[in-house]
Amino acid sequence: MALAYIGLGSNLENPVAQVRQALDELGGLPLSSLVAQSSLYATPPLGPQDQPDFINAVAVIKTALSPLAMLDQLQALEQRHRRQRLRHWGPRTLDLDLLLYGQQTIERPRLRVPHPHMHERAFVLVPLAEVSAAAAEQPLMLHQQTLDQWLTQLDHSAIKRISNAEAPKSVTVTATS
Ligand code: ADP
Ligand code: MG
Repeated sequence: MALAYIGLGSNLENPVAQVRQALDELGGLPLSSLVAQSSLYATPPLGPQDQPDFINAVAVIKTALSPLAMLDQLQALEQRHRRQRLRHWGPRTLDLDLLLYGQQTIERPRLRVPHPHMHERAFVLVPLAEVSAAAAEQPLMLHQQTLDQWLTQLDHSAIKRISNAEAPKSVTVTATS
């Protein structure tokens, strides 16, 4: 089993509901259970500014899925939320990124872990810091710096917590053979 950190984002079609529902759905993935979920945060959009604010959160999942199988599941979930890729960094109903998978480094065309831009994005690191305190045994390191060190270098004044973290509603225990 590995701990996978998933970044969630939405800025279309009731983003709060999209993210809440996706958190529930992540807990129901095969061979996986939801360990922790962050609060929801409202954050200004990256790139084009003529789009609504995003709602962001991070989930921690304990999983026996391989990293690529996890990516397949995340992309299937995005599809179920009728995500359309209209333009790069444009609005979306649901974006799910695999931020971290245990200690692994993965460099494939379809999957790069740790997510290559996460350490530059306060809307990822703020919710990540919230959940990693609960889920990780030792401080998370990214490119030789701790999460806290990355955070002190980023402006996160525009990121607003809009709801408190909830305990996972249900932990799905799937039998492994
Ligand atoms: P972004 O999240 O950067 O806005 P997309 O969600 O549209 O962009 O992702 C584009 C591609 O990124 C996907 O086709 C996926 O295969 C690839 N990708 C590479 N690494 C990751 C990762 N760690 N998590 C999610 N997708 C990834
Ligand atoms: Mg993505």
